[in-house]
Order: sequence, then structure tokens, then C-alpha cells
Amino acid sequence: STSTDRLEIEGLTATYGPVTALEDVSVPAAPGAITAVLGANGAGKTTLLRTVSGLVRPAAGRVSLGGRDLTGAEPERIAAAGIAHVPEGRGVITELSVEENLRLGSLLGARRPTGSGGRRFDTDGVLELFPALAERFRRPADTLSGGERQMLVVARALLTQPSVLLLDEPSLGLAPRVVSQIFAVLRDLTDAGGITVVLVEQNARSALQVADTGVVLSLGRVVAVDEASALAADQALRHAYLGF
Ligand code: ATP
Repeated sequence: STSTDRLEIEGLTATYGPVTALEDVSVPAAPGAITAVLGANGAGKTTLLRTVSGLVRPAAGRVSLGGRDLTGAEPERIAAAGIAHVPEGRGVITELSVEENLRLGSLLGARRPTGSGGRRFDTDGVLELFPALAERFRRPADTLSGGERQMLVVARALLTQPSVLLLDEPSLGLAPRVVSQIFAVLRDLTDAGGITVVLVEQNARSALQVADTGVVLSLGRVVAVDEASALAADQALRHAYLGF
């Protein structure tokens, strides 16, 4: 990976009318690393991802990729620059098959240069990462389990050839074994491909096991930022903010 892939999230402030959802939030991120963004309901985690991907325009702060300023840019431009946002709720198109859902990612990715680390994803490659999807390739997406839907949206995002993957609550409602499978793929992607992952999670314990770095938000502000292992070892912080 090179500096052309470096994501910078600096001093973001975002408001919804009178509500300040984020205040001066900076998040460390790096090619080949997973950053976990943690905190309770309403801490501002979803707003953070929406601000990075252009769905919310920040009142202050800066988002850039490889030195290219993307602050307040249109979501389409941010996606085309290589930032893929997988929102909470597994937005598969249920009427379409697994194959057709994946093809939508490939269409978007066709115009992108190869992403971080020189790795280009194709359909066979993502099916190797998620073998369960290969078995269901021609089935409508509404026949998939929650875990398979999550795999499908991650696979589809990879086919857009991103250098940055933003994931909102991928573990929500999934069995621990499925969460482990999905997090193991994220680790593979960062280790092998030099992709940058920013992972929003309420499941702080699991997220800190896979992440390199963690950021804890409370009421829109950063209350802690450190190596994931250090955050996981901080009992007072865990009890106050992380629920484990
Ligand atoms: P959750 O896990 O529940 O999504 P979160 O940490 O992602 O929580 P956000 O959804 O970013 O938090 O919400 C941060 C704050 O902004 C909360 O006070 C929330 O009520 C408020 N908020 C979020 N979206 C809107 C909106 N569209 N309009 C007004 N206020 C909003």
C-alpha cells in the first residue's frame, strides 16, 4: 500500500439542526489496519461514517484520501475515489440473486483502478472469501440468512475495488461463529491487501479482538483512542463505555 491510499479523518463536527452529533472527532486509520469505532447508542458512530462517505456534510473538519480533499463532496464522488460504505441493515436487493447483487458491485468497480495493495477483486475471489455465497449464487438474496446477507454486502463492496471499507455494525444480530468468520475475512483483507477498514460496532469485545486501533465515542466526542489491546485491557473504560 502507498500514501495514495491514506484516509484522514480530522476534527469532524456534524449537526442535525440543534443536535450536535459529532464534535471535533479525529479517527486514526491506515492502509492494512482495522480501526474500531465504539460507543453506546447515539454516540455518533453512524454519523461519523455518513460524514466520511458524504451523506452528511460536516460543519467543520476534514476528510481526505491520499491527500485529496473529499470534505463535503457528493457521495458518488467519494465512492468513486475508493471509499466503500456498507451501511447498517445489510442493503442487499432481495429480488435479485446473489450473482446479480454482486454484478452491481462489479459494474461500479469496472471504472475504478485496482485498489490498495495491488489486489483486484473479481467474483471468484470474493466467493473464495465467502464460500457460503458460492453455494447460493443463483438464489434470490431474500433466501439468505442474516450472516449471508452481511457477507454479500461486504463482497459487493469489495467488487467496487475500494481502498477504504467503512462498515456499520456488521455483527448486529449475528451468531458469534458468523461474526468470527466475517471478522476473519476483514483481517485477511487488511493483512494481505493493504485495504483500510473502519469498523463501527456496539459489539466492542469482538471488535477490539480484530482491530488494531480503537476510538471510543460518547455523546459525539472522542473519550479514548489507543491500541485495541490497550482499550480492551482498560477495565474502567470498558465498564463506563464499552459494556463488557
Ligand atoms: P446507533 O448505534 O443507535 O446508530 P450511533 O452511535 O450510530 O448510534 P448516531 O446515529 O450517529 O449514533 O446518532 C448521534 C446523535 O445524532 C444521536 O443523538 C441521534 O439522536 C442524533 N441523530 C442521528 N440521526 C439524526 C437525524 N437524521 N436527525 C436528527 N438527529 C439525528
